Amino acid sequence: MTLRYTPYTLEFKYPFRIAINTRIETPIVITEIECDGLIGYGEASMPPYLGEDQQTASDFLEQASKIIGEYKTPLDIEIIMARIDAVRIKNTAAKASIDIALHDLKGKLENKPCYSYWNLQKENTPFTSVTIAIDKPEIIIKKIEEVVAFPILKIKLGSEDDKKIIRTIRSCTDKPLSVDVNQGWKTKEQALEMIYWLRDNNILFVEQPLLKNDFSGSAWLAERSPLPIIADESMQRLHDLETVKNCFHGINIKLMKCTGLTEAYKIIIAARKNKLKVLLGCMSETSCAISAAAQLSPLADWADLDGPLLIKNDLFEGVKFVNGKITLNDLPGIGVKKLREEKK
Ligand code: MG
Repeated sequence: MTLRYTPYTLEFKYPFRIAINTRIETPIVITEIECDGLIGYGEASMPPYLGEDQQTASDFLEQASKIIGEYKTPLDIEIIMARIDAVRIKNTAAKASIDIALHDLKGKLENKPCYSYWNLQKENTPFTSVTIAIDKPEIIIKKIEEVVAFPILKIKLGSEDDKKIIRTIRSCTDKPLSVDVNQGWKTKEQALEMIYWLRDNNILFVEQPLLKNDFSGSAWLAERSPLPIIADESMQRLHDLETVKNCFHGINIKLMKCTGLTEAYKIIIAARKNKLKVLLGCMSETSCAISAAAQLSPLADWADLDGPLLIKNDLFEGVKFVNGKITLNDLPGIGVKKLREEKK
């Protein structure tokens, strides 16, 4: 098999402000793995907080291409991914781009959609939330009008204006909300007070209220919180579950954090054994990585796979959102078609 990769930059429709920063773009790398004239597509999305960029991903993929070149087919994904994972500790997004491309290629070779490998029914997909980042009230209202078909909104909090933002949203919609604080609340007491205030506002859950390594604070909060507390930045890979399971009610699984579908599936199974809720999330990603994650979505309690909705230069067509419901197609692999090449 042959591995190729191309850097690309995703542009947000609106500046994307969360508790820790504001961004207008996200660096990504698109991978292709070719075998018998078929191409499997993958993607690495690298928001800065992951500590990975196009250069480190390209360096990693250059090394990984030698391993991929040793295999004639993608059929033993677990074995290949174990070797890819062992190359370096980090580069989880670059690893995910390989894992996604291998799954896409395997599906294409065997003419099967990926969800069928886990015996999932495509009718059982959840709705996706759509993210409303921190902004001025008039922009928040405009954004909400633009996503009127989506039944769940994900609200970014963790600024000085949290209550104002919720009041603004409640002035124009009573849809259920999920809340993502992105580590933005300063103390566990402040977090508990805010959660009690949020409780009567039709909130599904609160994601990452405290700093990612504040496990004792998160455990204190989870014991007292009237709303489910979900780990995102605190939970990267399968081995993190041992710690996180005692401090949160659920976890946000993202392919870019956990090296792809192979490990994401294992995390879901382990989470269920530990009676944790599962949110399937994403970074800013094209329809390539989102369509890959969507293959696992029938296993999730909630999904937040809105990446393609937030960007203006998608490269792929794949999973659709029909009135917010994740809608898989019958195409083999991850179910995507490439719309154009990376060069603008
Ligand atoms: Mg989050």
